[in-house]
Amino acid sequence: MTGWLVIAGLGPGNQAMVTPEVTQAVAEATDVVGYAPYVRRVPRRRGLRRHETSNHEEIARAQHALRMAENGRRVVVVSSGDPGVFAMAAAIFEAVHLGPDSWRTLDIRVLSGITAMLAAAARVGAPLGHDFCAINLSDNLKPWALIEKRLRLAAEADFAIALYNPRSKARLKGIDLALDLLREHCEPSRVLVFARAVSTPEEQLRIVCLAEALPNMADMRTVVLIGSSATQIINRDGTPFVYTPRAVPE
Ligand code: SAH
Repeated sequence: MTGWLVIAGLGPGNQAMVTPEVTQAVAEATDVVGYAPYVRRVPRRRGLRRHETSNHEEIARAQHALRMAENGRRVVVVSSGDPGVFAMAAAIFEAVHLGPDSWRTLDIRVLSGITAMLAAAARVGAPLGHDFCAINLSDNLKPWALIEKRLRLAAEADFAIALYNPRSKARLKGIDLALDLLREHCEPSRVLVFARAVSTPEEQLRIVCLAEALPNMADMRTVVLIGSSATQIINRDGTPFVYTPRAVPE
């Protein structure tokens, strides 16, 4: 039997936001591999082995998945959102790059999912409607000095910014420092969206200006969208709309 390896994104949480091609790959798989909370989102069925791993063993998890595919198993590695956004796809390719030549001939495919920033943006309007960038605030995989530099230059370039991993139990400082830095570079009326657990029953959306933003508005299930200087709020009953205009005048 020929094995394969699919690196799939499960989207932000809502089952209706899992793409049909991901659902099909999972239906054909013999093994599903990933961080435990994501593996648990895959329904149990006979013949499907589940391999739940901790979030700190990415390369080992990637190697394990590649070895199984090499041995003829049909393996799906799952990430939340999109697997190419701060997730497993790059870890798999790193393992392939450093691994035995035989891994380069394996059938490996990446199946995209809806990433948190796009799901969050859609819930409030179109805050990423012009140029934007995404920054991971976790310093697990890079030095804080680099995060700070990228934040500063992104603010200076007037991008809208999506902040992933703004905070975790082990790491409280990311969002505090990011807000301090933004306050140095942006006006107090700058629009921020704290979007938590988007598309799940625990979803919470908070739209505030920079002057009102507090670090505890973010947790590990929150993506923070920071508008550009052009980002607008349309107030109305209920959650306001937030959008960034399509054009920047000359
Ligand atoms: N691959 C994922 C990101 C993994 S990093 C993706 O493409 O979405 C984990 C971070 O993603 C979290 O700390 C949070 O910032 C964000 N995130 C993931 N799911 C989310 C959701 N449903 N709502 C808000 N943020 C989410």
